[in-house]
Amino acid sequence: MNIVMLGAPGAGKGTQADLLSEELGCSHIASGDLFRQNLEKKTELGILAQAYMQKGELVPDEVTIKMILERLTASDCDASCLLDGFPRTLGQARVLDEAFAAQGKSVDIAIYINVPSESLVKRLGGRWVCRNCQAVYHITASPPKVKGKCDRCGGELYQRPDDKEDTIRERLKVFFEQTSPIIDYYREQGKLVEVDGDRDIEEIKKDLLSILSEKQ
Ligand code: AMP
Repeated sequence: MNIVMLGAPGAGKGTQADLLSEELGCSHIASGDLFRQNLEKKTELGILAQAYMQKGELVPDEVTIKMILERLTASDCDASCLLDGFPRTLGQARVLDEAFAAQGKSVDIAIYINVPSESLVKRLGGRWVCRNCQAVYHITASPPKVKGKCDRCGGELYQRPDDKEDTIRERLKVFFEQTSPIIDYYREQGKLVEVDGDRDIEEIKKDLLSILSEKQ
């Protein structure tokens, strides 16, 4: 099964994608993580992406699409995959459909995690991420057991440079202008499932697992 996770920045896509991929045993492909890994290794792609990420803008489609389609050719994506943060534009969604169709595959379900804007700003402002395994924490809602350390792997927690107030507002604007049309794109294809993301992480996970098991 190929799953696409949709939601504004801070909606909890990454957290749920992480939990679901573990539970379902499928690969979790997060476009933002791929860009950050490239940036850490100072690759040409990472340096190019950095300029856009710092401003909260989208990396151009041709660059992003090339990176994701390459990643999808890896053998761990043969049977199924869970895409988190991609597609983010209608152009990306259409190319993904074409690429899957060429391999006799398709997007089977698009999950939209809906969270009100006020909650998103609060969530992103207090977010800490593990540098090693990308697990996500929140200073008040889901703090780590030991300050600054990941519960899962002991890695160092950091605040993403694009989780600053101005950049957060730009990222949300970009989501509502450029990414939200994809919600209708998948709705028209009868593939959209919308869940209320303003709830406890475990509750959302339970809902999603039951939706996915019905779909399988
Ligand atoms: P994320 O970790 O998903 O919040 O992504 C962080 C940043 O990476 C975004 O603000 C964009 O600059 C860039 N990015 C991630 N995914 C995409 C995408 N599908 N298309 C364009 N830019 C992206």
